[in-house]
Amino acid sequence: MRKIVIAGNWKMYKTQAESLEFLQGFMSELDATPDEREVVVCAPFTDLGLLSKSLHGSRVQLGAQNVHWEDVGAYTGEIAGAMLAEIGVRFVVVGHSERRQYFGETDETVNLRLRAAQRHGLTPILCVGETKQQRDAGETEAVIFNQLAKDLIGVDQQNLVIAYEPIWAIGTGDTCDSAEANRVIGLIRQKLTNANVSIQYGGSVKPDNIDEIMAQPEIDGALVGGASLDPKSFARIVNHQA
Ligand code: PEP
Repeated sequence: MRKIVIAGNWKMYKTQAESLEFLQGFMSELDATPDEREVVVCAPFTDLGLLSKSLHGSRVQLGAQNVHWEDVGAYTGEIAGAMLAEIGVRFVVVGHSERRQYFGETDETVNLRLRAAQRHGLTPILCVGETKQQRDAGETEAVIFNQLAKDLIGVDQQNLVIAYEPIWAIGTGDTCDSAEANRVIGLIRQKLTNANVSIQYGGSVKPDNIDEIMAQPEIDGALVGGASLDPKSFARIVNHQA
């Protein structure tokens, strides 16, 4: 059975004080939507310890935005899976296009990070997607299939979420047509060995397009950047019509 997973990716936004302010507004806006609708906030590392305490006993789960592939070691600036798991982090974003674009993330390092996350009981949210140039050249499927083939080597598909994030739709307000996102996600699913992996759509998801996106049969949730920073907007997205 596929789960609905709505995850906010805060990127490099929100100090601890701002994250607590967000929570106050967000929790009061959340409907009593069914428990099988999972809600995740992927916060900066400095917020995670505090949020873990604040979210204890709530239905909102905690996610990180990166994890290193080694368990310990001399890797200045990196974070280990055990460090995240110990403070109650459950999810981790891996292979986001911003990491691939700005921080030299490759399919090989994405694969290592996915496996490290799983070793520590974290559920990775693997991001895949094509650039505008690749889409215009008719390469969307080939690009994504290539990412999946490399990223998923040795990865346990029983503990995995995938986010289809067309890069041209991220932070641009230019949402992918929901039927097209549905089509690509259907193709991604065909490449998986576990048909129950939840596959999200990400890219300019907003309160006013979430209902249409979630009405698509292949789409199992959303990875939300900008709109997850505002408590009312993110709550409206979580509270989308079934
Ligand atoms: C993202 O950061 O993964 C994302 C989809 O951002 P936005 O919702 O702002 O497009």
